[in-house]
Amino acid sequence: RKYRKELQLRKKCHNELVRLKGNIRVFGRVRPIQAEDGEGPEAVGAVTFDPEDDAILHLMHKGKLVSFELDKVFRPEATQEDVFRDVQALITSCIDGYNVCIFAYGQTGAGKTYTMEGSPENPGINQRALQLLFSEVQSKAPDWNYSITVSVAEIYNEALRDLLGKEPQEKLEIRLCPDGSGQLYVPGLTEFPVHSVEDINQVFEFGHINRATECTYLNEHSSRSHALVMITVRGTECSTGIKTTGKLNLVDLAGSERVGRSGAEGSRLREAQYINKSLSALGDVIYALRSRQSHVPFRNSKLTYLLQDSLSGESKTLMMVQVSPVEKNTSETLCSLKFAERVRSVELGPGTRKA
Ligand code: ADP
Repeated sequence: RKYRKELQLRKKCHNELVRLKGNIRVFGRVRPIQAEDGEGPEAVGAVTFDPEDDAILHLMHKGKLVSFELDKVFRPEATQEDVFRDVQALITSCIDGYNVCIFAYGQTGAGKTYTMEGSPENPGINQRALQLLFSEVQSKAPDWNYSITVSVAEIYNEALRDLLGKEPQEKLEIRLCPDGSGQLYVPGLTEFPVHSVEDINQVFEFGHINRATECTYLNEHSSRSHALVMITVRGTECSTGIKTTGKLNLVDLAGSERVGRSGAEGSRLREAQYINKSLSALGDVIYALRSRQSHVPFRNSKLTYLLQDSLSGESKTLMMVQVSPVEKNTSETLCSLKFAERVRSVELGPGTRKA
């Protein structure tokens, strides 16, 4: 027992070191079994945990026990507060000028939206992050002067849509800033300035309403589109005039289930192809980063192009792999966890060239 404790401590120190190097961290979150999972053998729990190690989970798939090691696993009983406690240091680092990306990955129904958006009574990472950043920058006054802006957008069938615009605009384009800084920007995308806690509530309310108005079936639509909350924190130190800019991208990805293989037709098939395209583009980018290729294909999808700043170089990235706990979903769960393990082995070196 003493040895295991020591081992855990060493692992923790190692993880801290790895963190400093800027690797992609991967957390897992397993949602509770719920009524919608049905009854009978299909709804039986297929995920178990290591009593001594909160980074390991086991999946029973087709009679075999497969184990995965992530950086941390949140069990079904973990609250939104528990999850946020472990991501807040990452979030506040964008005040110091870091680019940060947190994305939720997994099949539809595994809890991505619960983790990122949550509900008004039990908000997820998006709202808590904005609240935390707002209160942190206030505590730095009067030495530092900060401004925070938020954009809310979605990518559906490779079209980028502003969710805070007065009139919904389709097909926004991503461009390089003309100032030669290498930064990206989206002409026409609303940047909503946050001056108060009320502004924060308004941003999410408005974004949510705009997402819902254009579609008849919100749940289906949201499982097939990527939802993005993009926060920019700009600061100036009053005594020196030193300026910092940090970005926080919070992404609720489209469901990762392999719809294309199940005989979908027409618009369903088109949606599935777009989802496959952008999620596999994300995989390709991560693979290129992992194998330290000089060309990283960020521009192969809107999603990866938009996230380029927060996936490469000195940025800090966290993947939250969402896991359904039940037997009937183990094939998809296995795919998600394998993808998560591949992502976890990526190192973001400072020499990563942007394509
Ligand atoms: P996804 O966005 O991946 O499609 P959702 O976030 O919509 O999945 O989650 C599916 C259902 O499970 C929702 O009813 C949600 O409230 C519930 N749920 C997901 N994760 C949790 C959790 N950690 N605790 C309680 N309920 C959860």
